[in-house]
Order: sequence, then C-alpha cells, then structure tokens
Amino acid sequence: MNYPERIERARARMENMGVDVLLLSVGADLPYFTGYEAMPLERLTMFVLPRTGEAKLVVPRLEAPRVVAQPDVFEIVTWDETDDPIALVTRLADRPAVAAIGDHTWARFVLDLEAALPSTEFRKASLVTAALRMVKDAAEVDALTRAAHAVDVIAREMHGVRFSGRSELDVHRDLVDRMLELGHQRANFAIVAASGHAASPHHEPTDRVIVDGDVVLCDFGGTMDGYCSDITRMFVVGEPPAEVQHVYAVLMDAQERAVQAATVGTPCEAVDAAARQVIAAAGYGEFFVHRTGHGIGTEAHEDPYIVAGNVAPLAPGHAFSVEPGIYLPDRFGVRLEDIVVATAAGPRRLNEAPRDLAVVA
Ligand code: ZN
Ligand code: ZN
Ligand code: ZN
Repeated sequence: MNYPERIERARARMENMGVDVLLLSVGADLPYFTGYEAMPLERLTMFVLPRTGEAKLVVPRLEAPRVVAQPDVFEIVTWDETDDPIALVTRLADRPAVAAIGDHTWARFVLDLEAALPSTEFRKASLVTAALRMVKDAAEVDALTRAAHAVDVIAREMHGVRFSGRSELDVHRDLVDRMLELGHQRANFAIVAASGHAASPHHEPTDRVIVDGDVVLCDFGGTMDGYCSDITRMFVVGEPPAEVQHVYAVLMDAQERAVQAATVGTPCEAVDAAARQVIAAAGYGEFFVHRTGHGIGTEAHEDPYIVAGNVAPLAPGHAFSVEPGIYLPDRFGVRLEDIVVATAAGPRRLNEAPRDLAVVA
C-alpha cells in the first residue's frame, strides 16, 4: 500500500476541512496510514499528523517492536511506563486550532486531550478519513476480490455439505476453519441461523440442531491481507415449500435490481430504494428491517452506507455490500449478500458463488 500517497491525500483533505492535526489511535484509520494496528490497550498509541511538518507515531515502548518502521512516512516516538503520553501528544500537536481525533479513540484519552488543549476544537477523524478510505484504489479492489473469492469457494463447497443432524455451531465452526484455511488471517463472524432463528438478522449460532425442512442462513466473512470479505447465502434442507421459494425469488429479484442500480453517480439511497421497492411491491416491505448495505474495506462495515437518507452519489472505487433481507418472525428469514464495486463500466460484483436457494441434505 502506498502510505505516503495516502498521507498526501489526508493533508489535502485537512486543508479543505480546516483541520490542523489528525490524531489517530485504535481503529482502522491508523493502519490505513501507517500499516500499524494498535492493540486496544490502556496505554496510549497515537499517530500525530500535522497538516504540515513531520508525522509521528507515539507508541508505548513495549509495543514499539511491533511497529514496522517507515522513515519516509513517520517517525516513531516511544514513551516509558512513567512518562505522560498525553503531555507528549499535546506537545507534538503544537496548539492546533482544530484537531480531528480517531472516532474509535477511547473516551479517557479524548477527555484528557481536550483538557490538555483547552483552546482546541475537536472533530471526528472520519471527517478527514472516511472520504479517502471509501474510494478503493486498484490494489485495494484486488485485495477485496481475493477475499471475496476465498469465501465464494466456501459458499460453493457448502452445496455438498450435510446440514441435517448438525448444530448451527457445528456449521459455524466449519465456516471459521475454512476461512482460515483459505487464507484469511481472521474470521470476523459466521452467522448460521436455522428457520425461526434467521428472523433475527444478526443471530448468534447455537446448539440448535438443523433438521429436515429448515431454511438456513449463512452470513460469514473475515479479514485477508487487511481487507474484509462478507457473503450471505441461503440453504434449505430438502425441497423448499412454495412460500419459501416465492419469498426467495422476491429477494433475488430485489438484490439483482439493487446491484444493477449501483452505477456511478447514483445516490446511495437510490440503491437501497431499488431493493426496497421490489420487496414492498411483493407485500414484504415491513419485513425488510435493515439498510440494504454497508461499505467494506479494512473494516467489515464502513462508509458508504447504502441507506435511505444517504444522498451521496456512488463514485468509482466505492466498495459495498448489497444485502436485502426478508425476516418473517418465528418462521424463517432470508438474505442474499454480495460485495459490489462501483466502476465507470458499471457495478461489478466481487462474489461469484451461485445465488440460488441451495437444496442440501
Ligand atoms: Zn449485518
Ligand atoms: Zn454479511
Ligand atoms: Zn454485510
């Protein structure tokens, strides 16, 4: 990844937004600019990026060995157990009028820095970083594509996997193992939800045993070379009843329409509306209880959000999920999810695994 170029772009954005210093701690912004991921510790790690002048990475001395030095990007400044890191950051920040601080920074550090810099106005770092991170360059799209293809392999394999007689947790463990075996450094989640459980979109897998007739939702993803995968596919044990087939056909149509709507220049909310219209027209509008999608990159959920009210137009390089769902309480729930990249040539799905309702044993 080209960190100097990212920092260059951040500085241009800081200039536009009137931000004097960017302060990044735990969360995905820090590795985006430095390649370094801070542990969520009570000891302060903070990247201090002034609009002009040298960038510094403030780290506890014991964490310094984990930092890959990049002298052309930042200088490493370590602090010892008895030092005051707030005083150190305050000095490096050099009395900024406006500081943008990482959205995930612990409140204890934000409050201490606010107290130490009483004349500084604090803003969220996402004001600077979200617009940059949203637009993926070619290397990032490649990374997202590799991650997508790894989970595609698993989704395909599952057509031949036995579901009946196994618990949701069993299937969950298979998904996690396969993600790791296929090159993910970590599995972020693996939802396995049978029938009534799938009416809760973020159901946690249980020891509930899957039986004949169950409609099973599998939504899984992880992080591979720093970039996330996220896919949802549906399985049914034995031939599905007509109602399940009908609901699933509506859902597939909604997802296809939303993907086709995701052209450059289209407001994010119009992509959401494209899916919602199909589902509402079929009479299931009240059962589509969440937004159509979320951006994806180094974080599983990031900007842009595909949701009513987000009028921002899609731009080339925006990467996001398209995942409408229909959730019938106590009965079953269906969702279909692909990662899509907006390109000048039109929307490009990164996931290629079959999208049909897979009949399994
Ligand atoms: Zn979700
Ligand atoms: Zn998902
Ligand atoms: Zn998702």
